[in-house]
Amino acid sequence: MPAQLLDGRQIAKRMRERLRKARDAFGDRAVRLVSLEIGQNPAAAVYVRNQKRAAAEVGIEMEVVNLPVATSEAELLSTIAELNNRADVSGMLVQRPMPPGIDPRTVQMAIDPQKDVEGMHPTNMGTILYKEPLLPPCTAAAAQQLIVETGMDLRGAETVVVGHSEIVGKPIAVLLLHHLSTVTVCHIGTKNLIEHTRRADIVVVAVGKAGLVHGDMLKPGACVIDVGINQGPDGKIVGDVDFKSANAVAGFLTPVPGGVGPVTVAMLLRNTLRAAGAAI
Ligand code: NAP
Repeated sequence: MPAQLLDGRQIAKRMRERLRKARDAFGDRAVRLVSLEIGQNPAAAVYVRNQKRAAAEVGIEMEVVNLPVATSEAELLSTIAELNNRADVSGMLVQRPMPPGIDPRTVQMAIDPQKDVEGMHPTNMGTILYKEPLLPPCTAAAAQQLIVETGMDLRGAETVVVGHSEIVGKPIAVLLLHHLSTVTVCHIGTKNLIEHTRRADIVVVAVGKAGLVHGDMLKPGACVIDVGINQGPDGKIVGDVDFKSANAVAGFLTPVPGGVGPVTVAMLLRNTLRAAGAAI
């Protein structure tokens, strides 16, 4: 039997409806998200378009600032400082990839943690250890939401996270730990990946390597969350999980595209409303 697909577009749509209600209850107060982009990147342009459309649906104004490709790190930090001080700006994000010469970590640290709607500032990363973060990292929160939507009992569930990046792997491991899952994090140093994935009730893959995890690496009925975004040889977007073989074994599976991505955008908007002070 094929896996039950976790339709991120539908889940995100339901989230946006809830967010819209929270936004309306917030009254006339401005909720503004600023997107900073340095230079022009076709992939980032698609993200910005999707974010803008979703923000409009929720009633959040999204201001897109395009800085020239030659912008120095000092100039970018000065723009961020201005936005930190602008009372009408609830949250901001800097689109990636950033050009060479700009250190993403320095940029992230410059954003006021209360306006860091991507949840990547060390303050927000740190608060996820305390169970109820105000602004959790969006992709990790999206992966968590998709798992919760399955209705699985997460307490005691064997969970394997593949990838240990700061923005996805590590925070999702912590978020799932809060559900009392037994979490194993696999990475480049892991000796035998398949030994871990095969015993997992839940597998989250966030690596950036197409086809890294395939069906025979999975336990029948497992919930598989594919965070990866890769461009296949034919130009099509694929995840880190081989969809066809995984679909024949998994109990739940996220498609790519249409899985984690749209829910990540919804989390960004939820964080923006929270940053503005809305109770959501
Ligand atoms: P990243 O910073 O490059 O991290 C990748 C992680 O995978 C690293 O921890 C790396 O370990 C590990 N890794 C590399 N090869 C491995 C292997 N063979 N086996 C096990 N682990 C391995 O990437 P990221 O930012 O976490 O993103 C991961 C993927 O998710 C990318 O495809 C990205 O585009 C996608 N993504 C999607 C969304 C979304 O909204 N859907 C959001 C963010 C990212 P080392 O560091 O030790 O090499």
